[in-house]
Amino acid sequence: MKPMLLRVTRYGESILRQPGQTVTVFDDALHELAENMVDTMYEEEGVGLAAQQVDQALMLCVVDVSGLPDEDLDYQLDGLRQPIPMIMPMALVNPVVKSLPGKTVWGEEGCLSFPGIRGDVPRDEQIEVSYQDLDGDPHTLVCGGWFARVIQHEVDHLHGRLFIDHMDKRQLRLLDNKLKQLKRETRDSLA
Ligand SMILES: [Zn+2]
Repeated sequence: MKPMLLRVTRYGESILRQPGQTVTVFDDALHELAENMVDTMYEEEGVGLAAQQVDQALMLCVVDVSGLPDEDLDYQLDGLRQPIPMIMPMALVNPVVKSLPGKTVWGEEGCLSFPGIRGDVPRDEQIEVSYQDLDGDPHTLVCGGWFARVIQHEVDHLHGRLFIDHMDKRQLRLLDNKLKQLKRETRDSLA
């Protein structure tokens, strides 16, 4: 099936606040959706994309952290550290994130659904993610640093949570006008 680019939903669209449904059917349509999400993520130069960002309330996200600095890519997939090119891009179905003992770290994030907006967000430094692949097989990923940040950002989307929900009041005040403008633009473009 020929992959195609999908429209990325923007802040102000209600789908971004909808929790995703658990995926129970691992068929060709799911593979095709994930492939199209990966192509869309590359086209938009993102490092992750959640189903809600392509207008689907499903527990499915894709990530590719190959572009992030190597020293930050601290991870184990099913107990092994396979080279990054072998495991990326990655599709995570029905992911469940558990924090591991460690610090909370602040870092600057952006989001394809919030063009032009970036802000500091606190995340757990170390996490363990249980998920299924596109064939329904279970996996466990332990990761830290930017890898963990990207996964937490994407899994938040699957629960209808957005990065602005984690920002402090000062940050939100600084972004207030931009956020209001983006919401207006989104509504106008869909009207
Ligand atoms: Zn996002």
